[in-house]
Amino acid sequence: MENFCLAGAFHLTFSMNTFYITTPIFYANSLPHLGHLYVMIVSDAIARHKRQQGIETYFLTGTDEHGINIERAARKAGRTPKGQADHVVNYFKQMTAAFGLDTEHGGYDIFMRTSEPFHYEGVGEFWRRAARAKTPKGNDAIYKGHYEGWFCAPCAAYKTEDEYEKPKNPGEPPTCLVHDTPLDRVSEDSYFFRLSDYGEALLDLYESRPDFVQPETRRNEVTSFVRGGLQDLSVSRLRSSVSWGVPVPDDPEHTMYVWFDALTNYITAIGFGNEEREHAVGFEKFWPALHLVGKDILRFHAVYWPAFLMAAGLEQPRAVIAHGMWLDPNGRKLSKTLGNVIELDVLNKHFPIDAVRYFCMREMVFGQDGRFGYEGLIDRTNSDLASGLGNLSSRTLTMISRYSDGRIPSGVISEDKLLAAKRAGFDTDETTISGFVETARNQFLQHFEDFAFSKALEVAWSVVARMDKMISDAKPWELAKDENQKQTLNAVLYRAAEVLRWLSVLLYPVMPGATEDIWKQLGISGSPARINPRDLKWGELSDGTNIGEVKPLFPRIDKVKTMKEIDSAEVQSPKSNVQVPDSGMHATEADAVPNAPNQAETVPAPAQQHATQAEAVAGVASYIDITEFTKVDLRVGQVLTAARIPKSDKLLLLTVDVGEEKPRTILAGIAEYYEPESMVGRKIAVVSNLKPRKMRGHESQGMLLAASVGEGDRPVLATFTEEVPNGARLK
Ligand SMILES: [Zn+2]
Repeated sequence: MENFCLAGAFHLTFSMNTFYITTPIFYANSLPHLGHLYVMIVSDAIARHKRQQGIETYFLTGTDEHGINIERAARKAGRTPKGQADHVVNYFKQMTAAFGLDTEHGGYDIFMRTSEPFHYEGVGEFWRRAARAKTPKGNDAIYKGHYEGWFCAPCAAYKTEDEYEKPKNPGEPPTCLVHDTPLDRVSEDSYFFRLSDYGEALLDLYESRPDFVQPETRRNEVTSFVRGGLQDLSVSRLRSSVSWGVPVPDDPEHTMYVWFDALTNYITAIGFGNEEREHAVGFEKFWPALHLVGKDILRFHAVYWPAFLMAAGLEQPRAVIAHGMWLDPNGRKLSKTLGNVIELDVLNKHFPIDAVRYFCMREMVFGQDGRFGYEGLIDRTNSDLASGLGNLSSRTLTMISRYSDGRIPSGVISEDKLLAAKRAGFDTDETTISGFVETARNQFLQHFEDFAFSKALEVAWSVVARMDKMISDAKPWELAKDENQKQTLNAVLYRAAEVLRWLSVLLYPVMPGATEDIWKQLGISGSPARINPRDLKWGELSDGTNIGEVKPLFPRIDKVKTMKEIDSAEVQSPKSNVQVPDSGMHATEADAVPNAPNQAETVPAPAQQHATQAEAVAGVASYIDITEFTKVDLRVGQVLTAARIPKSDKLLLLTVDVGEEKPRTILAGIAEYYEPESMVGRKIAVVSNLKPRKMRGHESQGMLLAASVGEGDRPVLATFTEEVPNGARLK
């Protein structure tokens, strides 16, 4: 197996034959939301990227199911605690299936649950090891003491004075700064983990392994937290106060508490403390893990967990990587009260899975906060996927089927045709393009390994742009008319197809479905999932391959219509693959119920008013509202072919590329003034949502814009003096 080092921000000293990645396990007291989906998508993409390289990979996600919170929610819902957890897990599994993240779709290898018997066994063993251990200062790592203080059940954490709001009236409990709910007074015997003895050892760890916590800003936060001094942690509760949890070994009057139990899942899942699991997966084989976590739970993963592992004498994780949070387009937190929450069932209903995945990876600079709004998602999908990658794929394959009989043509230009190709402005030196995509591939992989997914995708889209330019410069539809340029035409098509093959492999981890489709449409056997991107070699796409059926990858999303549907669906109960429970049936908190009626405060965003548009209509017949104008969908189109229609001296039959999968047929009454030849290659303005109509046996799927000049109403086509992409919207 090929081994190579991850370079850049993430230096690697471990064997790369296996790879283990985890999302946090999610507390089973609320239903899945965008934050959960996001970290799963990123982990899934990393896992697929590793598997593509032939690295044996294990990907864990799951739920943390113990604690007073679940116990209380269960009581309220009339369920057992396990029944309550099952209920929530059910929704998580529906979500992962709907978004293609489950095992069946090539996603996670385990949906870990802390209620699993093997976890009880493993965490018991972990406790025993820690309980036998001495701290770096020679004290017992775990000791029995008495806990007196305030506890927030939703946080599952004890609160110190700076972490709660003091009560307004004496005698009342303080409230949690995070949850705004009253804290519980706890005064009972408890086992403690002597975290206070691990400060120096932790600082040594951060110093000797600068990539242990990433990104650097987070590492600095963690370091200064530890420098500020650590307090011992209470790691158990009396069974009489909390019974839903793992019993403390040899002292069943105590239940292990939350983080000690939950964090340990990362090793019990793969076999620590359980022979059967060890055999099935392998702690020895897969540990250490790469942990992806939200920045809000970084402390637990970068401070407590390493200290627990030190006590148990186990190897530290590969790294703990903290990601940012999603905000709304205005930079505000996503919250019910602001009505800006992104609903998973809405995403699932209105957007292709791969568009959501692409947006998540492209829009958030990994580690920083990102902004998520439905409109932004539609815009990205239309510009980068429908008009970008999707259009490149469909126009290339459509031309191969039209000009090359549905077979991948040869990219070779013979000596005697070189001059003709050069005369057509075509770069006959194939190493220019192969060198370009190789460099792009290397940059893409480097960024990907550095968790700079957004940059990696930018690089991939620079390849898309380069190919678009190659095609519009070479004008295959013109080359097709000249038998002498047959080889030039073939070379253009071959290069475009070969680049699509490369892009399918590179982009597979981000968009598994769409890239598998491109692969199939190119007529290649197997799957991009099994191609190591580092092994890609230019020219390995065999000529003569029959391409598959050409189908659209990313249909353009009608923004106005979709936004209207989304806005109205927020009032009604949605129907989608991800079913949400009725309100009242939910686990515990308000945030557990997507689409409850009380969060339908969202008002449709006001239509954007551009001053220029408002001014432009002044002085014309009568005013229209901006919403009336936006009903007209105007697009930039490029004329691919133009021909006269027999027995009509007015009409030209055009095929026009308006950035969709297939060019449109448009009949235009300009034949008296424009020669068909002069039309090909021109960029024009097209009314794209005009109802299609039949004329002279052809369906006209749109209308060109032209000024009407002089007595005879001579048409003068509206055109562009600057470079514009096909399909760009006029507004
Ligand atoms: Zn709290």
